[in-house]
Amino acid sequence: MPALEVENLRYYYRTRRGAVKAVDDVSFSIEPGETIAVVGESGCGKTSTANAIMRLLPRNVETYEGRVVLDGQDTMAYSNEEFRHKVRWRGISMVFQSAMNALSPTTRCGFQVAEPLMVHYDLEKEEALEAAREGLRNVGLSEDVAKRYPHELSGGMKQRVVIAMALVLKPKVVILDEPTSALDVMTQANIINLLKGLQKESRLAYLFITHDLGLASELADKVAIMYAGKIVEIGTASRVYPAPQHPYTQKLIQSVPLLRGEVAPDFIPGVPPDLTSVPAGCRFHPRCPVSFKMCGWSASELQAFLEARSGATGQAGVKPLSAAKFEPKDSWKLVVKPKAGTAPADLASEIRALVDVERAKAPVLQGIETVRERGERVVIDLYAAAVPELMGADGQRAACWLLTEEGKRYAGG
Ligand code: SF4
Repeated sequence: MPALEVENLRYYYRTRRGAVKAVDDVSFSIEPGETIAVVGESGCGKTSTANAIMRLLPRNVETYEGRVVLDGQDTMAYSNEEFRHKVRWRGISMVFQSAMNALSPTTRCGFQVAEPLMVHYDLEKEEALEAAREGLRNVGLSEDVAKRYPHELSGGMKQRVVIAMALVLKPKVVILDEPTSALDVMTQANIINLLKGLQKESRLAYLFITHDLGLASELADKVAIMYAGKIVEIGTASRVYPAPQHPYTQKLIQSVPLLRGEVAPDFIPGVPPDLTSVPAGCRFHPRCPVSFKMCGWSASELQAFLEARSGATGQAGVKPLSAAKFEPKDSWKLVVKPKAGTAPADLASEIRALVDVERAKAPVLQGIETVRERGERVVIDLYAAAVPELMGADGQRAACWLLTEEGKRYAGG
C-alpha cells in the first residue's frame, strides 16, 4: 500500500486579480521507503502542493478538493482539528525551506525538538527532552546542541535540528521543501546523505521539492515535473532523466550545465505564466519550441500578434495589416474589422499571405484553422484545444499532444 496517495488535488486561492490556480489536478503516490522529487521553476506550484497536502492553507482559499490518502486513510475527510491531531507532524511532517526561519531564535534547540512530543503525546518535559536528545543524536548532532540556541549553530547544524524536529513523531511521510537550498555544496551533500540514511532505517517516504534537477537525481526514485500548477511529466528517475518525453522536461534537463563536453546549457525563453490567467490548452505552449496547431493558441494571443502587425504599431519594414479593430468572440474566434476603404476580402487575403510567410517563425499563426469574410468583417477561427492529459506507459507519462497513449511520438512530431 502506498504511504501517500494524492489524487486530483486542486488548490486555488483568491486575489484581487482573480483566482490563483496554484495546484491544478495533481496526482501521484509514494511507496514506503521511496522518494518522489517534484521539480519545476519558481512559482510552478511545488510548495503550494506541499502546503495543500499539509493543509497549511491561507484564509483566502477558494478551492481545495481531491484526495490525500495517508496509509489508506483519506485525510480530506478529517475536520481541521482531526487533521492537526492525526496527520500533521504525526503522519506527514515537513522540513521547510530555510532552517533559520523554521526555528525560534529565542528557544533552545532541544526544547524545539521536544515540543511536538509534549503537544501530541502529552509527554512530561524531561521525558520529551530525553527523546529530543536522542533525536539530535540520530541526525548526527551531539547532545550538547540541545542546550544551544539556533544562532550558535552553523547552517548545516540548524538544518539537522529541523530534520530532527520533523522526525521526532516518527511520521510515515516527510515533505522536504528545498531542504538544502541555503547550504554550501559540502553541507548539502552531508544533508542528502543523512536523509538517505534515515530513509533506509525507517522506510520513510519522501516528497522532495526542488528546482535543482541534479540534486533531485541524488535522492529521487520517481520524478514529477511541474509547470504552471500541473504535473506535465512523471515517471521513474531512471526513465525520465535519460529520455524525457515532455518538451518542458527536455528543456529543463538541457538547462543544467555540464562539467564536461562542448554542449552549452540551453535556456527556456520567456517566463512561467501568471497563474491567475493560465494559457488555454497546453499551458507551456507560449514557450514551447515545438508547439503546433493543437496546442492552444487563443484569440487573444492571435490578437496581440496581429495588432503588432497593424496600423501605427506595425513593425518597421513590414507592410502593416489593413485592420482597424479586433474583437475576440471566444477563446477560438477572432473578428477583425478592416480599415476604412479596405474590402474584407482584401484584408482576408493579407492575413492569409501573412500566415503563409510567417507561420514557421510565429507559432501562433499555426493555430489558425480558417480565415473567412463575413459581411463587413473577417472572421478567424482557431483550432479549439483541450488541456493535454498525462499519457504513456512503463513508468513514464507526459502531457503533450505530440505523444500517443503509449508515450511514443506521433510521426512528424
Ligand atoms: S502540447 Fe506538447 S507540443 Fe504542444 S505546446 Fe504543449 S508541450 Fe509543446
